[in-house]
Amino acid sequence: MSYCRFSDGDVYMYPHIDGYIECCFCSLAQPDGYRLQHFHNHKDALGHLLEHRKAGHHVPQYAIDRLTVDMKRAELENLLWELCSAQGQIAKRNESGLDWGIDNYYKRREELMDEILDIALDYRRNNDEL
Ligand SMILES: [Zn+2]
Repeated sequence: MSYCRFSDGDVYMYPHIDGYIECCFCSLAQPDGYRLQHFHNHKDALGHLLEHRKAGHHVPQYAIDRLTVDMKRAELENLLWELCSAQGQIAKRNESGLDWGIDNYYKRREELMDEILDIALDYRRNNDEL
């Protein structure tokens, strides 16, 4: 699903199947430049949408919102992956009886759980406001 189409605004941006986000026929590109712009993370793509707004182009709010949700989801996914990895390391060390470095993994696991909890609470707060 695209973030924004020309039927609704001045920008056509969508997540490409190859894993990047594309601004298609970008009107911010140099006249002689390549008119497809690629972004390899949500933050850069979001910054680009805001550049379009700054230039006076119409970018619907829902495009910004969708991209923001995807960005937060990706952040959360990364934290969960790291949490699984830390948990896996703790289990491996417990199993093997070798506890070298285990304190670091416990510490990191606590930090990750706090970060994830913050995001969850933030999400709850934002949805309560709706
Ligand atoms: Zn663009």
